Amino acid sequence: MKLQITEIQAVSILTPQKVGSISSGYDFSLNPYAGCAFACSYCYVPKFPNKRHESSNWGKWIEVKINAAELIRKDRHKVFGSRIFFSSATDPYQYIELQYRLTRKCLQELLLYQPKKLTMHTRSHLILQDIELLKKFGHRLQVGVSFPTDNDNIRAEFEPNAPSIKRRLQLIEALSNAGIKVYASISPLLPCSVENLVAMIKPYVKTAWVDQMNWLEVNRSPDLLQKYAEFFDKKNYQQKIIALEKALPSSLN
Ligand code: SF4
Repeated sequence: MKLQITEIQAVSILTPQKVGSISSGYDFSLNPYAGCAFACSYCYVPKFPNKRHESSNWGKWIEVKINAAELIRKDRHKVFGSRIFFSSATDPYQYIELQYRLTRKCLQELLLYQPKKLTMHTRSHLILQDIELLKKFGHRLQVGVSFPTDNDNIRAEFEPNAPSIKRRLQLIEALSNAGIKVYASISPLLPCSVENLVAMIKPYVKTAWVDQMNWLEVNRSPDLLQKYAEFFDKKNYQQKIIALEKALPSSLN
């Protein structure tokens, strides 16, 4: 099925965060796109009802909020001094960003209105195209890079359209070398060698956000959970999570 792309006028762009949400600890999440072409099989976003799209079609559609930057300008009084998670329900640097540059336009607006904290969250090396802009946020910025496994064959099974592990390694190295605070998002932990994963990323990241495979009700590849049942076995899996948490302090602290 061809990727369905629709331009929409969004009503709002800064979504207030509730305690207990995926990005609690933040005042707002910011999603310039709805939908995500990276199509991770475990993605939790399809669990939220959507009037226009079936959850089974996740990864096959994107809505482009073409007025995203204007909405930030309109709500600029909310931005000052706030903590913003960018993005919680899409990848702000999925490849459609090359066409629309919505994430870049939103960053240009945010910079004018001085948020207290800005966390970018992505799987994509495209963020490097905005590195000079991002550096202007200084100590207020951190970047979370998804790094759920050390094994690119596993990545390709669970995240078929997302950038390779090699690309992500280059990405965390480049961000770290640019002096940008970067953490690893190991969420969910996918089959891997925990020792290799830690050895691979620790030179570049000091902290991590580690989480387990959740939202089984919307998982689109239960066959993979079966295939790697030994790895996901509750006790075994929990031990690996604990080992990771010991090796890499939490990015939430
Ligand atoms: S990149 Fe994030 S939002 Fe996109 S499909 Fe993967 S988990 Fe979902």
